[in-house]
Amino acid sequence: MSFKELSINELINHEFDCSCGKKHIASIENIAIGKNALDKLPGIMETQKLKDGSILSKSDKVFIVADVNTWEVAGERVESMVVQAGYPVEKYIFPHKSMHAEDKYAEEMKEHLPADTKLIIAIGSGSLNDLTRYVAFGAGLPYYIVATAPSMDGYASNVSPLVHNNLKITYSAECANAIIGDTDILATAPDVMIAAGLGDVLGKYLAINDWKMSELINGEYYCPEVGELVLYSVKKCVDTVPGLVNRESDALQYLMESLVLIGIAMSYIGFSRPASASEHHISHFLEMKSIFKGEYGQLHGTCVGMATCIVSDMYAKFLTMPFDYDKARAHAETFDYDTWEKEIKRSFGLGADEVIKLYKQVHQNDPEVVEKRIDSIQNNEAKLVSLMEDVVADTQKAPQLLKALHGLTSPAEFNVTKEEFKDILMYAKELRNRYAALQFFYDMGVLEELADDIIEKYMK
Ligand SMILES: [Zn+2]
Ligand SMILES: [Zn+2]
Repeated sequence: MSFKELSINELINHEFDCSCGKKHIASIENIAIGKNALDKLPGIMETQKLKDGSILSKSDKVFIVADVNTWEVAGERVESMVVQAGYPVEKYIFPHKSMHAEDKYAEEMKEHLPADTKLIIAIGSGSLNDLTRYVAFGAGLPYYIVATAPSMDGYASNVSPLVHNNLKITYSAECANAIIGDTDILATAPDVMIAAGLGDVLGKYLAINDWKMSELINGEYYCPEVGELVLYSVKKCVDTVPGLVNRESDALQYLMESLVLIGIAMSYIGFSRPASASEHHISHFLEMKSIFKGEYGQLHGTCVGMATCIVSDMYAKFLTMPFDYDKARAHAETFDYDTWEKEIKRSFGLGADEVIKLYKQVHQNDPEVVEKRIDSIQNNEAKLVSLMEDVVADTQKAPQLLKALHGLTSPAEFNVTKEEFKDILMYAKELRNRYAALQFFYDMGVLEELADDIIEKYMK
């Protein structure tokens, strides 16, 4: 069995006995992506099971939710399809010009949700999907997402990250019951949203590479089938970037499929390892900094796309340097917890407590822990070099691909100072317990050197 030979619908609702020794399953009931995909909506509704096991009936209320922009794109079409199919409909259109995944908007949606609702259909992308998933889960209702932009990889996610009191909190929820990506609707998305989706996809080169490196260095579990599946779909997107520029249906379909497929890969593994490494840690820290400043910042995928360019450059530079294990071991010994904690409080501000709490469980910079990894790096040097050479070859094309859609490729294009961006490069690795590029550079004693090099190149 090879996952990459299966269609996206063959990958869901089916348990696979994988060659990695695990069973993989993704519980998403319906995915319809492509030209005229929206036409499948009434058929999907006819088979929709409710929580009590009964099937959605023609007297069950459907609640449609959108914002002013997404309503404009597909609202009336969705509403008339549902009405024509015979279901009673109520709707809420958020009147705000720009919407974010913030808990106050989830409350606003709840206030407008009729008590007798049996199914929610959201029309939108990142924020509306996150808000609706949260509200639907809380109310015990199934929900569909009609995607208006291929802008992020959270369509098939089962968690909702919402901003609450200037902090992003990830709430448990359930996957959408149906994900509909009609390419005629997706084609109306502006470049900035498509570039964001592409950025989130390009980051997967690094996510899979860093996962493989961690298998070598830490003996971390790695599933080659899932890794191959993700890389295969990323390559399909990369090959059709010119088609995205022209809004060709095939290219939009591959991008949307890839974004959904990444969610499936995460479900298979049980957490976000196949989708997120240092490029996401950089992006999270950047997003945190924006939220602390009371700004919304750039889209998630826009941040990931830029961070992918940066980590790619760090790997490329690293490969020009000698592997100096004496230097690495000497650097590991210089770690001083108190100094580190001060730096974390300074650079993370409101978010520092969580980072410190994580350190106390993981001790990622403890000299003994680091030196064990250095031994492992030394024993696997040739294999690691070959992985890094491959990932650099793949990701050095990222700036050119993103620029084709006017995407951002430099931290200088973000609202961040060079001091802040250096903090991000130095400390983003402390945000998650996940071995990835930035920790690897730290282990080799060259993180600061590489960070300075990036600042010099991009933010002089
Ligand atoms: Zn597997
Ligand atoms: Zn992402």
